Amino acid sequence: MTRKILVLPGDGIGPEIVAQAEKLLTFFVEQKHIQLELESGLIGGSAIDAAGVPLPDETLSKARQSDAVLLGAVGGPKWDQIERSIRPERGLLAIRSELGLFANLRPAVLFPQLAAASSLKAEVVSNLDIMIVRELTGGIYFGEPRGIKQQDCERQGFNTLVYSESEIERIARVAFDVAAKRQGRVCSVDKANVLEATELWREVVTRVAKDYPDIELQHMYVDNAAMQLVREPKQFDVIVTTNMFGDILSDLASMLTGSIGMLPSASLAASGCGMYEPIHGSAPDIAGKGLANPLATILSVSMLLRYSLAESTLADNIDRAVSQVLSNGLRTKDIHSEETQLVSTDEMGDAVLSELVNLMK
Ligand code: NAD
Repeated sequence: MTRKILVLPGDGIGPEIVAQAEKLLTFFVEQKHIQLELESGLIGGSAIDAAGVPLPDETLSKARQSDAVLLGAVGGPKWDQIERSIRPERGLLAIRSELGLFANLRPAVLFPQLAAASSLKAEVVSNLDIMIVRELTGGIYFGEPRGIKQQDCERQGFNTLVYSESEIERIARVAFDVAAKRQGRVCSVDKANVLEATELWREVVTRVAKDYPDIELQHMYVDNAAMQLVREPKQFDVIVTTNMFGDILSDLASMLTGSIGMLPSASLAASGCGMYEPIHGSAPDIAGKGLANPLATILSVSMLLRYSLAESTLADNIDRAVSQVLSNGLRTKDIHSEETQLVSTDEMGDAVLSELVNLMK
């Protein structure tokens, strides 16, 4: 069966890094490891330049017909002055909401070869491998009523933390399914001692866990989770949490790994469609200079194969190829140190491809 992938390079370093990821997909197709149809589309600033809007209808309709979307990054100073509602980042928010991408998976993985880049001691983070599953379309970021109103003699700001049972259940199921492909442990993070919405969260996650007898479930308050992530991060396998707690904890966890250029992400919809992208932005300061690290995008392809196409062997091979390239001492500028070999974006892409070819002989 031929699966459709929509490739959206976007702006800044987007086209350079996505081109490296495409090399791997093209190799898989040419060697008949998988049947894929790759299409490309416009999003962000490049779409504004070509079509006047950050998410053209054509891109959205192609995305809806695809099994998965691979995105580079959007934005840049060229579009910073235009009206807020049609800025490049709006294209990203729009595609996430139009595709119903309610589950955000952000791994925090530290390759042992890069342990020195972390802000924590090498022995605390070496081989770190956590997956944060963040609810992405509900909670306090979307809850109504919200606003700023006049109350007596002063203004009052207010937001609403609201979760329905079905919203909690579907994100819990994503977390349990992800854990089943990993070490089989889920830690649900809430503030059930203070917030009723997360008391319900805890109750529903506990109920859903009964359908997954092989998965070990633990609950943790968010303040403790933040502390534990810094104290002993390797105790976690999968963390599932609300939109706002996930926003904060996933940034914290990603920084344990030291480099923004190494971290992929996935956003999944109930339909099975997923969008995969590096967590970093379009890095206009280094665009077009061959300095960008393509590994976050390459690892996003690994997630795409694993979560949208159920091709875990191909995904494992990409992860191994990346690890081998790092063991060989190759580094783009962001992760380069004295004793390693500095390579360009393109050379890094070629090196991963060459390791992949070796692994799949
Ligand atoms: P950024 O992530 O683009 O860059 C932050 C710093 O990290 C820069 O110094 C950059 O050079 C470096 N960097 C980022 N990715 C790198 C890579 N792959 N290899 C090496 N170095 C890398 O964040 P920013 O500078 O705050 O934002 C730049 C633009 O990107 C803005 O327009 C912003 O709105 C947009 N943005 C887009 C996304 C997205 O598309 N998902 C996310 C964040 C920011």
